[in-house]
Amino acid sequence: MRLEISLGRLRNEFVAKITELSGQDINLCYQCGKCSAGCPMSFIMDLLPNQVIRSVQLGLAEDITSSRTPWLCASCLVCTVRCPKGIDIASVMEAVRQIALRRSEDFIDPAGLERDTVAELPPIALVCGFRKLTG
Ligand code: SF4
Ligand code: SF4
Repeated sequence: MRLEISLGRLRNEFVAKITELSGQDINLCYQCGKCSAGCPMSFIMDLLPNQVIRSVQLGLAEDITSSRTPWLCASCLVCTVRCPKGIDIASVMEAVRQIALRRSEDFIDPAGLERDTVAELPPIALVCGFRKLTG
């Protein structure tokens, strides 16, 4: 019983943090799937945008924070524009990234990049990558 209460509190804290950081009412989502249907990055995501939203509704913090989807999100806002409930899904993705980055869980390790790879990349890509994917 005590464990259930504790897990419930943790789930609520995660949902509350996502809500606070994104400013979005996740519970408005009714899973129409329009966000995922328009997402240009969905083909490489392990969770579709609507699945991320549903996972937040359910407080499945582990599923979301272990997913690559928030990091692969290009912040293009297509999902946000398409959502019939006015949910800014891109902000939810950003909130998930912020939670990880505040825990010092960077998605890329600049020091671990191959020199040849770095030499081939445009400087602006590196700057954007470091700003978005490292804390
Ligand atoms: S903002 Fe991210 S999740 Fe939304 S459509 Fe663009 S890439 Fe997909
Ligand atoms: S478009 Fe909006 S309402 Fe539809 S599944 Fe995506 S977040 Fe939910």
